[in-house]
Amino acid sequence: HKPVHIVGGGLAGSEAAWQLARRGIPAIVHEMRPKRTTEAHQTDRLAELVCSNSFRSDDSENNAVGLLHEEMRRAGSLIMRMADTHQVPAGGALAVDREGFADSVTQALEAEPLITIERDEVAGLPPEDWDSVIIATGPLTSPALAAGIQALTGEDALAFFDAIAPIVHFDSIDMDIAWFQSRYDKVGPGGTGKDYINCPLYRDEYEAFIDALLAGEQHKHHDWEKIPYFDGCLPMEVMARRGRETPRHGPMKPVGLTNPRQPDKKPYAIVQLRQDNALGTLFNMVGFQTELRYGVQADIFRMIPGLGNAQFARLGGLHRNTFLDSPKLLDATLRLKAQPRLRFAGQITGCEGYVESAAMGLLAGRFTAADRRGEPIVVPPVTTAFGAVLAHITGGHLDAGEPGKRSFQPMNVNFGLFPPIEVETPPGQKLRGPERGKARKRALSARALVDVDRWIGVPAADAAE
Ligand code: FAD
Repeated sequence: HKPVHIVGGGLAGSEAAWQLARRGIPAIVHEMRPKRTTEAHQTDRLAELVCSNSFRSDDSENNAVGLLHEEMRRAGSLIMRMADTHQVPAGGALAVDREGFADSVTQALEAEPLITIERDEVAGLPPEDWDSVIIATGPLTSPALAAGIQALTGEDALAFFDAIAPIVHFDSIDMDIAWFQSRYDKVGPGGTGKDYINCPLYRDEYEAFIDALLAGEQHKHHDWEKIPYFDGCLPMEVMARRGRETPRHGPMKPVGLTNPRQPDKKPYAIVQLRQDNALGTLFNMVGFQTELRYGVQADIFRMIPGLGNAQFARLGGLHRNTFLDSPKLLDATLRLKAQPRLRFAGQITGCEGYVESAAMGLLAGRFTAADRRGEPIVVPPVTTAFGAVLAHITGGHLDAGEPGKRSFQPMNVNFGLFPPIEVETPPGQKLRGPERGKARKRALSARALVDVDRWIGVPAADAAE
């Protein structure tokens, strides 16, 4: 077999190379460090963790990222094997000794005869004679390659920042307080006039909310992370600093909406949430991008009537992050539709996090190996954590027929990305609130593990190791 070229030896690129080699396909990993580095990396190691040393929860029964850990282990992931080997105590989380971890990934790839590591920057679109390429250059893709990709995909198709509004699990929104209605009952294409969830704030609630926004501590950025504010997407707290009334003349304006429970009392401000996935399990807070510290965001947003018990699938943030408009650009197996020799993996595809990036590297490696071997590609079912993240990226969750309606934002794996499941309750018993939530997570996890085993099928070569 001809080698597959992998650009970027981070979490995703390293895992992809390993998966190719497991299937007998040679790979050349092009890593620009140490010749050229990013603003966040500090070493020349492959799979360097640029920030926290945590792979987050390792609870595969109750937590979506823990479930993804387990699926990756079952699929023979190198990243997970080395994370397990270099684990340090961290309660229910899987945290690693970052040097031991990156060293061992680097050594495993160096020792693998089918893998070659070349320390060079791919400074533009990969040469045309590379017939199979995995681009896994991450959130800090070098400018020259980013420019090459942009020339191919169009300027708007590659973002350099994410400005993210919090996303809330629908079943944690109090619909006895909030209600469905579109502004002026407007019926857009595919809409019903009841497309948004509305949370009312009366005068005192609004004033208290603004006070909390103004007092909330903002995330501290490194200089290189400082992001220019665009008027179209100012962080909510910056808007409040410009004037206490500014938010209610912007995203929180109370016009065109009537609280059905108090039709005669006009709210002073309204927070709208828009459906975020076709499943209807996630809603984003419209216009609520924020740079508040994660620790304070949830408390402040739970002051909004209707969101008192909100569970956040992701909190808001503004980050340096190079990522593609993947639902438009990539096919179901992560190949660039415009140039199928290029497959993408890792955070540049719009997943978020070490584990998710490595998982998308694992899939890209397997898919590319199948291509090389002339075998059919079977994508993981959407009921698995692998499949749920892949569907988020490739647009499997978006409603066909309304392209561009929802903006694509990077996201960690979370149970809101999975098709809902009915929880079985013992006869005569009704599970409520948190109990129901826990039972649901356990049921989703159990279903995922059955389905991932079926997808993995005959154990891969390394499953016996
Ligand atoms: P990376 O691991 O970044 O790997 C990409 C590799 O490509 C790098 O080694 C880079 O040197 C190389 N490269 C780039 N351009 C080229 C080129 N043109 N030619 C050759 N090589 C190239 N996630 C978490 O789960 N927890 C965190 O705490 C966390 N903190 C983060 C902090 C920062 C500052 C950033 C930017 C991201 C953070 N992330 C975090 C998000 C993300 O999960 C990680 O960035 C993760 O490493 C992404 O994996 P990746 O393989 O896609 O990219």
